[in-house]
Amino acid sequence: MSIFRTALRLAILLVALPLTSQAAPELPEIEINALSDQLIRSPAEYLRTSEKTTFGQIQGGDFQPLTPASVNQGISGDTFWLRFRLSNRQGTDSVRWVLHHETSYLDNITVYFSDNDSPFQSVHLSDRKPFNERILAYRTLAFPHETTAAGHTDVYVKMAYDKADSVSLNLGLSEADHFAERSRGEYFAYGIYFGVMATLLLIALLGAALLRQMVYLHYGLFLVFSTLMWAALNGFSYQYLWPSSVFLHNEGFHILFLATSITALQFSRHFLKTRDNFPRFNRVMAALQLIMLSGIGLRLAGVYDPVLVLSFLSLAILAGLPVLGYIAWRRGQNYARWYALAWLVYGVGLLVSVLSAGTPLFNWGMDPLLFTQISAVLESVLLLVALAERLIAWERDRRQALTLARQDALTGLNNRRVFPQALEHYQARFHQTGHPVYLIMIDLDHFKELNDQYGHDAGDRVLREFGRLLRNHCRPGDTCLRYGGEEFAMLVQVPREREATRIAERIRQAFERHPTQYDGAFIQHTLTAGLAPIFSADRLVAWDDIVREADKALYLAKEQGRNKVVVFETLAKARGDEQAEPSIAGGMKSNNKEETDAYREGKT
Ligand code: GH3
Ligand code: MG
Ligand code: MG
Repeated sequence: MSIFRTALRLAILLVALPLTSQAAPELPEIEINALSDQLIRSPAEYLRTSEKTTFGQIQGGDFQPLTPASVNQGISGDTFWLRFRLSNRQGTDSVRWVLHHETSYLDNITVYFSDNDSPFQSVHLSDRKPFNERILAYRTLAFPHETTAAGHTDVYVKMAYDKADSVSLNLGLSEADHFAERSRGEYFAYGIYFGVMATLLLIALLGAALLRQMVYLHYGLFLVFSTLMWAALNGFSYQYLWPSSVFLHNEGFHILFLATSITALQFSRHFLKTRDNFPRFNRVMAALQLIMLSGIGLRLAGVYDPVLVLSFLSLAILAGLPVLGYIAWRRGQNYARWYALAWLVYGVGLLVSVLSAGTPLFNWGMDPLLFTQISAVLESVLLLVALAERLIAWERDRRQALTLARQDALTGLNNRRVFPQALEHYQARFHQTGHPVYLIMIDLDHFKELNDQYGHDAGDRVLREFGRLLRNHCRPGDTCLRYGGEEFAMLVQVPREREATRIAERIRQAFERHPTQYDGAFIQHTLTAGLAPIFSADRLVAWDDIVREADKALYLAKEQGRNKVVVFETLAKARGDEQAEPSIAGGMKSNNKEETDAYREGKT
């Protein structure tokens, strides 16, 4: 029996010996006795095989040195193998280390390890299991182990994708304490990132609530999806947001890429008002959004590869937004320059990241992704600056529109809209100072005839000239406006009626003395003015009567031959007459001051 047993053992040994010598070739050696943090690189080797290959089959395979150029393999569903020996030969203590992958979306890692030439054991890590089943609660797949003092660990790492994705062969190797310290720093840095994004989101929501503008809501939505996209790419969403949703973690990536692109386009359409300013672009953007949205639908329905490509393309498309922003800026949307700059920072970063992750074009691994994430903060701040500048521009436009709405286009004077507000203002001033306020209504004489004789254009010229004349007579405290047609109004606050009459009289004289030059002709013209005290110690005129009283004086003057200033007689009212009557303040012909005063004194 024992002979039989020995013979059997011998036979097994004979069969096993060539197998083990074939199965365990000398692995390229990495020294770890002074390990802190490093990337697994050549002399480590890698092998690309088809999906189905097993550990037993690859050990004699044609492994290649893992150079920086071979780290990024583009989009692939193949299986990749890495192999190396971790040597702690000079060490007197054992070394605890952690092997961790760069990206959060690598589907499966199987680590085959053998300590000091013992038989290989294996540990399977998968992101197709809920987060809390991980050996290490770390944002990417990580494997902890210990190499004995003066010993070595042979390692084969199998990286396999259930579904094709962008492949990075970047594995980090950290001494265990360093790893803990490193991940604390990493989580802290990302914490700042998410804090800044949350603050910006709060500002966006406040803007949406206070200003009631959709564009802030779209900005906020873009922030949400852009941040979620980074949270997913970094593995935080799986750790903290949906730790048990294997579907969201794996299939959700491309949904988030698409949602980020959709919201970026939606924000852009609102911000640049593309419907009005770029109708063609607007249609293209809307169509792209629809395609992206159907991409999300397809993914939810279980379609994988086409949606993956579409999601990568959708991010790459965002690199076109700075061009759109630039065009908008050149076309006069001044605030679009910040928008263009923001998307230049982000869009180009995304484009480089997508090319880097999706193709073997660059050998920068996933580094561009990190820089793009930093630029994502910058872009979000720049977009906020763009929104602020847009708000300021709108406020400027609004004020300009308000000014224009209060201005008479022909003469540049205020128009009638200003009148009620001016009256309130003078009423308040009267109550403060006790000085009476007078309304002077001015009407140009025979203006219809003037138009008929010289033409409407000449009439306009006269109106403009009179506007200038009136402005010159308008002192800082006065209000002068075009009431309508060839009628003008002036509000003055002076201590006595005499001063108000004098002002009107001066204007009348100046207009009479300075004919308007038009087409070689000198157009003679005159005006008639009616003056009424509206707020005085004697009386406060009822709001509705204010213009009526000045008009009454004006019509009386017109009746009496025009080219004069007439004062609405208030003292008649003081004497108790039922209806106050206007009195002629100017002389019938000369209108000079002495005559006016004499006339008024005689009358009262
Ligand atoms: P009166 O001496 O009684 O005031 O006679 P009038 O012709 O000035 O008065 P009327 O109210 O009959 O006519 C006013 C004219 O002013 C008629 C209208 O065509 C003219 N007018 C009103 N606005 C403008 C304008 O903006 N430009 C020109 N050129 N004419 C205007
Ligand atoms: Mg008139
Ligand atoms: Mg007139």
